[in-house]
Amino acid sequence: MSEETGGLTVGVDLGGTKIAAGTVDPGGEIVSRVRVPTPHDPDRIAEAIAEAVQRVREGWDDVRAVGVGAAGYVDADRSTVRFAPNLGWHDKAIRDIVQEATGLPVVVENDANAAAWGEFVHGAGAGHEDMLMITAGTGLGGGIISRGRLFRGRFGMAGEIGHYRAVPDGLPCPCGQHGCMEQYASGAAHTRRAREMAAADPGRAAAVLVLGDGTPAGLQGQHVTEAAQGGDPFSLDVFARSGRWLGQALADVASILDPSVLVIGGGLGDTGELIRRPAEFAYRRALGGGEHRIYAQIRAATLGQDAGLVGAANLARLHELLWSPAAVL
Ligand SMILES: [Zn+2]
Repeated sequence: MSEETGGLTVGVDLGGTKIAAGTVDPGGEIVSRVRVPTPHDPDRIAEAIAEAVQRVREGWDDVRAVGVGAAGYVDADRSTVRFAPNLGWHDKAIRDIVQEATGLPVVVENDANAAAWGEFVHGAGAGHEDMLMITAGTGLGGGIISRGRLFRGRFGMAGEIGHYRAVPDGLPCPCGQHGCMEQYASGAAHTRRAREMAAADPGRAAAVLVLGDGTPAGLQGQHVTEAAQGGDPFSLDVFARSGRWLGQALADVASILDPSVLVIGGGLGDTGELIRRPAEFAYRRALGGGEHRIYAQIRAATLGQDAGLVGAANLARLHELLWSPAAVL
């Protein structure tokens, strides 16, 4: 990894419902933070980001750059969000807008890439050079670190792990295809699976149903986690099935990229061992190779909700280093 500058940078995690911003020190500690709702009007979002940046840097005079992790396709020069369905954005030149408003250099990155970078530098991937992160939340995203660098692909679209076809003629996906892995291994798929299983056998699901409103449709991911932590066989079975899909996804990407560590993030990753254990079991079975193969470590992410923010701040730090005259060899 590159040498780092001192000083502080601001990381921003831009999602469909909230903007989280934080001032981050070189060790990855968040020294100040703010969280505001994402404006409904797409034209106000960049302004809201700039305002959040100005708020978190207040009182800190050594802030040098800003990194924005955005839920969407970010172009190859990391300035423009090409398409962000959750934000209602097309071709938004977010870097220029935030740069102008704050007077700081800005780098924009896809949110899953930013989260992967955060885990790589300060979280579960620390100490590894080749890491793959799968973020299993509402969707199924990912980030690839190869030889200590974020692998973005030629057009900045690498790491879209959720949208390869895992099941021919499978479930429809909002991306327009059928059978995408996202429909089976995401956090949302896990919750949907729990509801379907509870609807099919409410008696067996009784211990988890009482944690919600009593109906399968009212079941939330946190209910399944809580019941599984208490040893509820139904909820553990839901985790086993979701883990089987996630482990298959890990094996699929590992067979292509051969990382030394695979990190599970997102809401499902936050459940820790509950998902990690069945996913690792399925990963090993799906990958094959027996005793002759070196298996990657499977870890749960450690930075939780902060991974994207911390990663974006660190990418801004490296970006700022590139722009600093002292760093030009
Ligand atoms: Zn898809």
